Amino acid sequence: MDNHKELLCKEIDSLTNELFDISDYLLENPETAYQEFKAREHLSQTLENNGFSVEKGVGNVETSFLARPAGCEPRRPTVAILAEYDALPKIGHACGHNMIAAASLGAAIALKRILKDEAGGVALVGTPAEEGGGGKALLAEAGVFEQMDAAMMFHPSSTTLAGREMLGRIKFQVEFFGQTAHAAGSPDQGLNALDAVIQLFNSISALRQQVRTDGRIHGIITHGGDAPNIIPDYTSALFYVRAGNREYRDELFERVKKCCEGAALATGTTHKIKVFTPFLDPMKRNPALESAATENLKALGVAIDEDNGRKGSSDMGNLSHYLPAVHPWIAIADPGTAGHTVEFREATTSEKGRQTLINAAKMLAMTAYDYLTSEELRERAKKDFAS
Ligand SMILES: [Zn+2]
Ligand SMILES: [Zn+2]
Repeated sequence: MDNHKELLCKEIDSLTNELFDISDYLLENPETAYQEFKAREHLSQTLENNGFSVEKGVGNVETSFLARPAGCEPRRPTVAILAEYDALPKIGHACGHNMIAAASLGAAIALKRILKDEAGGVALVGTPAEEGGGGKALLAEAGVFEQMDAAMMFHPSSTTLAGREMLGRIKFQVEFFGQTAHAAGSPDQGLNALDAVIQLFNSISALRQQVRTDGRIHGIITHGGDAPNIIPDYTSALFYVRAGNREYRDELFERVKKCCEGAALATGTTHKIKVFTPFLDPMKRNPALESAATENLKALGVAIDEDNGRKGSSDMGNLSHYLPAVHPWIAIADPGTAGHTVEFREATTSEKGRQTLINAAKMLAMTAYDYLTSEELRERAKKDFAS
């Protein structure tokens, strides 16, 4: 291994307890999208204690931050190392973002300590609200990444891969408005908004048979009525529509909107759709950066798995259309362990989870080092991005 990479790894080993503490602090203080004030404070403080200057609330997002090594002039190329730290409602850090923040801080701190001039090319960006919010898209739209050349982060998983497909996604709410009536005494006078939402789920189930394999449509009923003896005059549901490219994502959404119209028509109700922005874009993968990450994982003795084809969505997809980006996954749990579960949350502090956190910090530091010091890699990454 390159001498500098060995020094980076040693530095990260020396940070082990600090990184576990960061992960544990976030785990014990879970905050959902755009509410990550404790996390922003804790991470900013840790970075300041380690010689970074921190700007809070960048890109008009209050709980974001941007940290740069203090006393170094920002220089190009700059690599953005991303920290996610939002949790899920009710089940807390069941996506393991507590580990993402800790690993990224570890990498940034080690790079600052080991690099000389190149340290000015390190930026740690705190990116809120990955879950359902799309914080990275907002930061990118606001220009936070304009003076940066590549972006990277790691995500815990049950498989290890330098990259995998991620789907584009649209989140929307639909509401149906009907007319209440006594469900037994005067059903003929009611317009049933619950029937409308049930009809919608059935129509989508039928549509699902005719969609491409990358299409995904799934939802929940968020309001289903108030009492069995009152015909519901109001119901609401939340849905995600996903697909492998922007065009198909948008096309599927148009078809789902027709299902909403049909359900309203069939039940005599009216409906209203509220679309949540930003839409998530599919991941634009960067083979050059992925191969650098793969080599570094192998050098750390981390085995790479076969891609099992399972995929979700991330606002990293949006960012990957602004600059070359890489989003490796490293296993913290046995194959088949699903994310967004209590088991996955517990795996973030398991022995394997701990080992992965350190490996992730090292992989990020090494890959950032490769990018900052190899013009050849930067050229290939640029070419992949342009293609
Ligand atoms: Zn998640
Ligand atoms: Zn996640």
